[in-house]
Amino acid sequence: MNTQKLKTEASAYRETVEKSAAILKNGGIVAIPTETVYGLAASALDDNAIKKVFTAKGRPQDNPLIVHISSMDTLFEIAQNIPEKALLCAEKFWPGPLTMVLERTDKTAKSVSAGLNTVAVRMPDNSVALDVITVSGLPLAAPSANTSGSPSPTKAEHVEADLDGKIDAIIFSEECAIGVESTVVSFCCNPPRLLRPGAVTAEQLREILPDLVIDSAVLAEPEKDARVESPGVKYKHYAPKTEAFLVEGNSADFAGLVNSKPDSAAICFAEEADGITVPKLCYGTSENEFTLAHEVFSVLRRVDDLGVKQVYIHAPSKNGVGLAVYNRLLRAAAFRVITL
Ligand code: AMP
Ligand code: MG
Repeated sequence: MNTQKLKTEASAYRETVEKSAAILKNGGIVAIPTETVYGLAASALDDNAIKKVFTAKGRPQDNPLIVHISSMDTLFEIAQNIPEKALLCAEKFWPGPLTMVLERTDKTAKSVSAGLNTVAVRMPDNSVALDVITVSGLPLAAPSANTSGSPSPTKAEHVEADLDGKIDAIIFSEECAIGVESTVVSFCCNPPRLLRPGAVTAEQLREILPDLVIDSAVLAEPEKDARVESPGVKYKHYAPKTEAFLVEGNSADFAGLVNSKPDSAAICFAEEADGITVPKLCYGTSENEFTLAHEVFSVLRRVDDLGVKQVYIHAPSKNGVGLAVYNRLLRAAAFRVITL
């Protein structure tokens, strides 16, 4: 398949939005930018289009997709019995990186929810995404636009590397502003439960949801065959081919560990790079978790180019959006944690 590369400069913008909307209305699939990561969009009403998304990504069929909307009217068409607190969250955090799991109606295709009676929904904070949704007139199911298992794409070039030739089009827009996927909260249990951390933090959510529970899968490996609230958490994720370890400790101890390992590399903070003698990639500064979120997937995509056997990743704090970065790195390291 020839994958169209669509531009977003002012002169091409309208045509790109209209072309994308037309492809989606015809049952095709298009990679679109969002503020979190690039998404691979399909009509959430079209089972056949959804199938194409699962196939292009190599995504397991029991892992449901997030539906992206651009108006509250669509929310009431695809979800029902929406708790008051969920509406308050929508008011406060939408458009933005918060996905809410709610009771589904029959409007969306069953395959979107992978057989569950719930639907995950969010309104992205990206004008290209919002325009494509509005012009198509469709709710769009859009998982991250990467090959399943590999780091999520934060640049159009990442999408191209994984999916060129497998999807109808890629919208080339800016790098994603946030860099990690949305926060996922389920309102289908009492109290509400944080299933995946993201840029809307647990601290922010607790201002509306004081009884919010953080699911154990956020920071621990789900037990084999255990029932999980969010099917996505049980899969291998974000992993480079290089064996990765997540390391907790101060800068001096981290440098001491990696510098003593021949054939290894480090993923470290910018401020400690000078003390590290093995090949290294910096992913932001430790005191600003947003810089880490912005770079984490890009850096994970470059690890294998270093040609080393192992990579040691300096763990961020678990505060604020740091929890989301920690959660992704824990999976990239297949839950191998070294505490110094
Ligand atoms: P992705 O779209 O690749 O960022 O992944 C979507 C995430 O949302 C995965 O972790 C899914 O398991 C989760 N998710 C989507 N729909 C539901 C749902 N109905 N119930 C629980 N988790 C969901
Ligand atoms: Mg994903």
